[in-house]
Amino acid sequence: MAELSLKGIRKTYGSLEVIKGIDLEIEPGEFTVFVGPSGCGKSTLLRMIAGLEDISAGDLTIGGARMNEVDPSRRGIAMVFQSYALYPHLTVRQNMGFALRFAGVPKSEIDRQVMEAARILELEPLLERKPGQLSGGQRQRVAIGRAIVRHPKVFLFDEPLSNLDAELRVHMRFEIAKLHKKLGTTMIYVTHDQVEAMTLADKIVVLRAGVIEQAGTPRDLYADPDNQFVAGFIGSPR
Ligand code: ADP
Ligand code: MG
Repeated sequence: MAELSLKGIRKTYGSLEVIKGIDLEIEPGEFTVFVGPSGCGKSTLLRMIAGLEDISAGDLTIGGARMNEVDPSRRGIAMVFQSYALYPHLTVRQNMGFALRFAGVPKSEIDRQVMEAARILELEPLLERKPGQLSGGQRQRVAIGRAIVRHPKVFLFDEPLSNLDAELRVHMRFEIAKLHKKLGTTMIYVTHDQVEAMTLADKIVVLRAGVIEQAGTPRDLYADPDNQFVAGFIGSPR
């Protein structure tokens, strides 16, 4: 059974339709990348899956259960944004444990989860620092750590690396690939960077103006793009 299923998903703002009927199935453990130009609806789609945005029409199921009206905290999803939005006055340890504390998880359990995430992300030496004392890449790792401690069934990433410089972006791309391998969790990753898409994805979904132009493996899209738009975005020259 698919981990995530989108059927006829639409989003309208007033009279403006920005997501125009998306059908998509995502398998457990799959790394799916949404690519497409700015404004095509990548973030809107992700935010609807996360429950941060109402779904205008269609059905969203996660793990077989219909999720359209389910509270974001009950969807088994954690989202990592491009702006890390860490609490500046809290330490790395406190930032990573914040959601669990908020949910009333006992302190010993929070400590255990935070240590585990810190080990995976190699953040142990930085646990007592505050965000202001970290580099951009370290901050982004903390943001990912905050997601890991919640043990989501699905990770959503919205252009998590676009604020980093080129060298760090490449490094973090490998880190995210490693993380996916380690955890084996279903991940959906939004980017407008073709190289990121090609190297990370099991499946690439190319979006344009609220519709899917083509979905397939990086190899399929590269070797056999359905149209000029897909070819221009990730395909080989034809
Ligand atoms: P992307 O992430 O691919 O750059 P977005 O999902 O942010 O695109 O936006 C898709 C379209 O929806 C854009 O045309 C954007 O202007 C529009 N949009 C996004 N949020 C709103 C909103 N709250 N109200 C009206 N239009 C919006
Ligand atoms: Mg966006």
